[in-house]
Parts: sequence; C-alpha cells; structure tokens
Amino acid sequence: MLLYNTMGRRKEEFIPIAEKMVGMYTCGPTVYNFAHIGNMVSYIYWDVLKRVLKHGGYAVKHVMNITDVGHRFDDAEFGSEDKMRSAAESQHKTLREIALFYTAQFAADAKRLNIIPPDTVRNASDEVGGILDLIGKLESRGYLYRLADGEWFDTSRFKDYGALTGMGFAALNESLMAGARVERPEGLRNITDFVVWRLSKPGETDMVWDSKYGRGFPGWHIECSEISMKYLGNHLDIHCGGIDHIPIHHTNEIAQSEAATGEKFVNYWLHNGFMTVDGRKMSKSLGNVYTLQDLIDRGHSPLAYRYLVISSHYRSELNFTFKALDGASSTLNRIYAVAENLSDVKTAGGADPVFVEAVRALSKRFYENLNDDLGTPEALKSFHEIINISNQRMSAREMTKSEARAALDALLEIDGSILALNLSERVDGVVLTPEVATLLKERERLREMRDFEGADKIRGAIRDRYGIELVDTKEGVKLRKAR
Ligand code: AMP
Ligand code: ZN
Repeated sequence: MLLYNTMGRRKEEFIPIAEKMVGMYTCGPTVYNFAHIGNMVSYIYWDVLKRVLKHGGYAVKHVMNITDVGHRFDDAEFGSEDKMRSAAESQHKTLREIALFYTAQFAADAKRLNIIPPDTVRNASDEVGGILDLIGKLESRGYLYRLADGEWFDTSRFKDYGALTGMGFAALNESLMAGARVERPEGLRNITDFVVWRLSKPGETDMVWDSKYGRGFPGWHIECSEISMKYLGNHLDIHCGGIDHIPIHHTNEIAQSEAATGEKFVNYWLHNGFMTVDGRKMSKSLGNVYTLQDLIDRGHSPLAYRYLVISSHYRSELNFTFKALDGASSTLNRIYAVAENLSDVKTAGGADPVFVEAVRALSKRFYENLNDDLGTPEALKSFHEIINISNQRMSAREMTKSEARAALDALLEIDGSILALNLSERVDGVVLTPEVATLLKERERLREMRDFEGADKIRGAIRDRYGIELVDTKEGVKLRKAR
C-alpha cells in the first residue's frame, strides 16, 4: 500500500512497525462547540484509511484525544482566546459539562456518518498526571524555560525542528513571524516556542491542577504526545490530521515526543486538505459554517455527505456546495436503486463467466485504487463501472439471478468494507429513518384516538414519500418496500 507521507513529501510503501498491526493516532476535536462539516471531512477520510488497512488484513489500534482543556485558537500560542473557557463562561457551565455535551454531539455525528469509533478515546483532562511526567522529562533534558505565564519549550534546542513543514528553522520562524497577530510574551526566545504548562490566571479555578510548575493546565500540543505514546507506544505507525496542523501542532508534537524519548515518534504523517464552502474559507463572519445537523435539517442524508467527501481525494481541497451535495444525494439514490433492482432479478439461468469476471476485475481494481494513497475518486469509478455494466444488462433483460447476485455481492462487499453507505439495508430490508419513525409515532397516536382517516393519510404519505409499505400485523406494524 502506498501512502503520501508529509514527512518527506512523497508517496511511500507502507511498512508497519509490527507485522500486521497498525498503531494509528488522529487528533480529536476541541469540544467547545458543535463540530462543523469541515471537521467531519477529516474523520471521514481517516475512517476510510482505517477500513482500507483492516481490509488489507491489518489489526488497527486507533487512538484519539478529546481536547477539553488548554487549546488556544490563534496560530500563535500567546495572547489568544481559550475557547473552552469562553464557552463555559458564556453558557454558565463547567468545562467538564461543556466538554461532555459537545463530545456526545461529535460522537453522534460520527455515528451518523458511519465512522467507526476509535478503540481508545481519551480526554486531555484525564491524562494530566502523565502529561506532567512528560513535561518533567523535557525539563530534565533541558528543553524548557520559564516565562511569567508558564513553562515553554525552546524549539531551537530541538534538532530538525520543523522538518514536517519542509522549511528550515529560520524560515519557519520568519513565516510564523509574518502571520503573528499578537505581541510576543516577554522573554520569548523563538517565535516557534510553545507552552507546555500554562499557569492559571486569578479566577481560573475549573480544570486547573497543582504541580511543581505551579497551578495551571497543560498546553495544547502536549496532550497528543502523551495520549498517543501512552496508548500506542513511543513509536507510532500513522498520525493523521488536517493540513492546518502541519506547521504548529504536529511540528510541536514531534519536537516534544522525540525530545522526551530520544526515539522516532511517527513513521507516516498523513494530512487531509481543507474544505471550503462555495470556494471560501468557512467562517462565522461569512455565515457559511454548517454542521451535519444543518445538512439534515435541509433534507440531506448524512451518508450523502459521506459520499460527497469520499468522492474527492483526501489530499485535495474539497469545495462544498449544496449543488454538489444534491448531486451526491442523487448518485447515492441511484446506487440504492440499482442495488434494489439487482436484488429483485428473478430470471433463472447460469452466469455468463465474462460478466462475472468483469465484476471480479472491477472489484479488485476498486481495492487497488485505494491502496494507491487512498485513491477514492478512482475507486468510485471502478465501483460505478460495476453498476453501469449491471444496469446495461438489466436494461437489455439479459441479467440472470446468479449474475445479479454476483454483482450485488461485489457491491455489498465494497460497501460493507469501505464505503459504508448502508447498501445492505436497502437490499435486505427497510431503513427506519428518524423522519419515518416520527410519522409512525404520529400514526400510532391517531389510531389510539380512533382517527383512522388521519392514520391512513400518514400511511399514504410514508408510501409516496419514502417508498415504504406499512403492514399491520398482530405483533404490530411491519415495514416493507412498496412495490
Ligand atoms: P479542531 O477541532 O479544530 O482541532 O479540528 C478537528 C480536525 O478537523 C483537525 O484534524 C482539523 O485539521 C480538521 N479540520 C478543521 N477544519 C477543517 C476544514 N475546513 N476542512 C478539513 N478539515 C478540517
Ligand atoms: Zn494532536
């Protein structure tokens, strides 16, 4: 399998540290607000990566952090706002309450997108003991210095600082200097230096810990070094995140981890491109920051969004538009319709070996496309080619049941292993969407009130709108596809 490694900026053959085992770390969300659809892009791609590795026979151990403390939202470390604390203050909640609420929302969004949860998810605030031990190692190795607001990492002391960016130390400092919007703290040695332990300000009493450095809380980057190495060992196979993390967050993770252990931290660094909306950066001021729920409220299925994301390559910039999402919804519905039609083919007879071989070859190509640095757009072409040749055969009324089964099995295998668009539910049964569930409840209520006319109207609406037939049985109402 080839993967594009940001470290070195080229495609490389993936070779795991341990045979058939992959340790994979993704930087998790900062839980001060709902994740937006741009954040979910990242998690969808890494879900595909994980599924491809699993399909390739690897056991994957996937670890993710939840940033519930310490994250500043400026590119520079200093002076910027702490969004977790701001959210807690404005909502009159504790930091823990804010974190729990948005973590649950994030998990629900991930579930709706069929993203497999990581094996281990850890909150930064639950790992402060280990973080302090790690800071202790950095201190004893002479990497830290003290400023008025906490302990800072001297990046000039770390050999090859910034290697991930492909820039030398001086060039990286200059580029950050150009982007810095705020004053440097007094005594700062290099603009690339970052805080590992921040002293709490008077009045900050929530999520602060006593330590030999004084009362405070961890800086942002240190949590990922601690959590990744604690649960995956000092040396990881794969570390993923968005490209925004290359110059600062991941660069600093490497510096801290390798400075503390003296070992190589990560073999393969993978970064997803950024998503724009209507060609522009997502931002509150442009009013173009959407959540998954916003898309659902506009009548789109989360899986259409998953499909849209997968149809673009993880390293390219994905431009989100509602038109593109409509296109993805139609394509998804076409995929469902073809799968349903295939499952309905009843013509007896054998299978044409040429057709069966064509399906097999396309299916093989699908996985080969993915093994080339997650080539999802090419892989989807192979998938659609199976659909096209099946459709042609069905239209010409030449498809036998055994051929249809061969095509359907290939589509279901691809969907079950990688795409995760719930194809099997379409073929084998009826999906109970939240919308249909609400209508069913309403029908039930009307029947209890003996309003059978109203109940029948809902039955008709469910059939017309969702293609679902309601069958009242002794055990209750059953759903089946309307014919
Ligand atoms: P954050 O909660 O800001 O740390 O973001 C979580 C993940 O989403 C990180 O890996 C980011 O790089 C990624 N991310 C944030 N915004 C976007 C975007 N517009 N497009 C793609 N990925 C993004
Ligand atoms: Zn991280």
